[in-house]
Amino acid sequence: MDIATVTRLLRAAGIRWVRIEMADTHGIARSKSVPIEKFPTYAARGVNFYGGMLLQDASGWDIPLEERLPPPDYLLKPDLDTLTVLPYAPGEVRVLGDLYRDGSPAPEDPRVVCRRMVERFRARGWIPRSAFEYEFYLLHATTREPVFRDKQICSTLRNNFDPAWRDELLTALEAHGIAVSTLSVENAPGQFEITFDPADGLAAADQAFMFRTVVKEVSRKHGYIATFMTKPFIDQAASGTHLHHSLIDATTGQNVFADPQGMHGLSELAWYFLGGLFEHARALIAVFSPTPNDYKRYQPGLFAPTSVCWGYDNRSAAFRVPADAHGKKARIENRLGGAAANPYIALAASLAAGWDGIERRLEPPEAIQKDVGWLEGLPPLPRSLDEALDALERDTILCDLLGRPFIETYVAVKRWDAEKCRRRCPDYRSPEWNHRIDPYEWEEYGELI
Ligand code: GLU
Ligand code: MG
Repeated sequence: MDIATVTRLLRAAGIRWVRIEMADTHGIARSKSVPIEKFPTYAARGVNFYGGMLLQDASGWDIPLEERLPPPDYLLKPDLDTLTVLPYAPGEVRVLGDLYRDGSPAPEDPRVVCRRMVERFRARGWIPRSAFEYEFYLLHATTREPVFRDKQICSTLRNNFDPAWRDELLTALEAHGIAVSTLSVENAPGQFEITFDPADGLAAADQAFMFRTVVKEVSRKHGYIATFMTKPFIDQAASGTHLHHSLIDATTGQNVFADPQGMHGLSELAWYFLGGLFEHARALIAVFSPTPNDYKRYQPGLFAPTSVCWGYDNRSAAFRVPADAHGKKARIENRLGGAAANPYIALAASLAAGWDGIERRLEPPEAIQKDVGWLEGLPPLPRSLDEALDALERDTILCDLLGRPFIETYVAVKRWDAEKCRRRCPDYRSPEWNHRIDPYEWEEYGELI
């Protein structure tokens, strides 16, 4: 259908605004709203977008750079495949876009990076099928206190504490093609987990990005703040993003991670993919734990990873082969991520690591079948953003796979995240700082992440 017809139909359906949207470096949704009458023009040429958009901190300030001339503007070009009517915002549709500069997709745009990684697999005849599993805290908007105080995992009364919020959320997620599997209270006051079906290629990251924004928007309508900040309360569980990977043969539609004869029903390809995750785990942390706050997540006993290891049906390990991961559901779960991770970057980086594992036939070490939280002698994960960024910069394979222009932008923004935190919290990285959540962390990451 051509754009003039799409626009005419949208107008007839009462749509007045089109929101052209993208994820910045932090995964924060940024957009411009254009009246429906102007949409055909913007659909053809893109809408002007500030050139420093990807070089800002999470509060929207330009990061200090030596060269102060602002970069030339981008054009944000809508990808019509992502057009969605917003049930919670009558009269408005959302469409996601890619940033362009000088007529080409900008290599530092997280969505472009992810698209290119997916295309790399496509060229080999594989479609990455991925599922994001999100946890988040729901807070009263006025007090920023959790919506209930007790820690009642899966309590029926708490799961359904506000049916109007729950129902509007489901309607909105369904409108985005996000097929919810479960909604339940997680292991902390006001913490929820929502799982949904996997999706293929770039769509998995698009859905994860839209999921976060939809949860935030619907929650705000109901007087709440949904925060994906990874560790909002020091004495409670962190929020994670677990990322499940499989590869589908583009011709046969078969899951090539499955092999009934292989160990735990997994194929050689799947084990090499896991080998790649191992090889790059320390560098991956720079994108899976993207804020200074994320490093407070690594505590034993709360099912967040503390070291580089894998286990069968072992949720204390960084990588898990879930017990039902065979046949169609053959998959590897990457549990490195805090909820704050930008889904486009997380997916691109995890796929890049898996790709290298397949290319170089990297074998993972033995499984660990214990609660690894208190186990000594396992390779540790970086314990600060600074350390993780050093590991990323040293990992030339991952940097080349993700593309140098992206790495330059990402590292500059994230180095500033660490430096800003150091300036605002003079005891940054001290044991005292690691044992509290500073008001600065709330200010910087609480609402928008
Ligand atoms: N909240 C944990 C995390 O930080 C995960 C708990 C779970 O296994 O679902 O990743
Ligand atoms: Mg969970």
